[in-house]
Amino acid sequence: LILLGPPGAGKGTQAQRLVKKRGIVQLSTGEMLRAAVAAGTPVGLRAKDVMARGELVPDDVVVAIIADRIEQADARKGFILDGFPRTVGQAEALDRLLAGKGLKLDAVIELKVDEGILLKRIETRVAQMRANGHKVRVDDTPEVLKHRLDAYRAQTAPLVDYYARKGALKTVDGMEPIDSVEAAIAGLIGRPRRPAGRKPARKAARRPARKPAKAARRRAAGRKTAAKKGRGKPVKALGRRKAAKRKTTGTKAPRRLTRAR
Ligand code: AMP
Repeated sequence: LILLGPPGAGKGTQAQRLVKKRGIVQLSTGEMLRAAVAAGTPVGLRAKDVMARGELVPDDVVVAIIADRIEQADARKGFILDGFPRTVGQAEALDRLLAGKGLKLDAVIELKVDEGILLKRIETRVAQMRANGHKVRVDDTPEVLKHRLDAYRAQTAPLVDYYARKGALKTVDGMEPIDSVEAAIAGLIGRPRRPAGRKPARKAARRPARKPAKAARRRAAGRKTAAKKGRGKPVKALGRRKAAKRKTTGTKAPRRLTRAR
């Protein structure tokens, strides 16, 4: 599943809700790149300044990250791509990656929002991060946001047409409250099969009563006739005297002490 939309459209929020409800993973290239920058990896070093300016990291870098990530075990049940693809080149690379794995996109969901609201949303996000004592993103400033929006318009918005032509695009009104957007997405992609991490209650299986196997039936019949005829063989522990008495009086041996001949 791909979530498409400008910065601040609510892709991350909706992706997290989908993760909770459906037990699939959220693959956010922005998050992965920020982690790479923080760890000072070669990818991080390449991406750091580009990200700080609000521009797009080169396609080959992000495509390699995603190619690697979707190979991991937790992506087997499905994944939500949040912030990827962001260019037609990335979308084409994704098509090839998915085709190579025999996978098909379930949907591309565009969160449609008025640009006027985006700055307000980013300001709210920054205020919340600060209030929670979290580090604020270097690109969450009015100046950088302008560049990020420019990049979206020029390089990412064409993906709306790209996926519409493929018949995969679905659009929701991202201006609605978070719960309504979530409900609209659920309406488009269908309800989850079962809540994540919870197994369905198993109905008690009603099996037809099975006949005992032929051999077991025969053994049981043999034991019955042997007991009836008093042919129970005394076990050692019975003692000679008791066994002799049984022989003369014809008393049946108690079943648990007998063995069929
Ligand atoms: P995000 O967290 O999705 O807003 O991404 C933050 C920044 O990471 C973007 O402004 C880009 O610099 C970079 N980035 C994230 N995803 C991509 C991508 N698919 N292609 C290129 N750059 C990306």
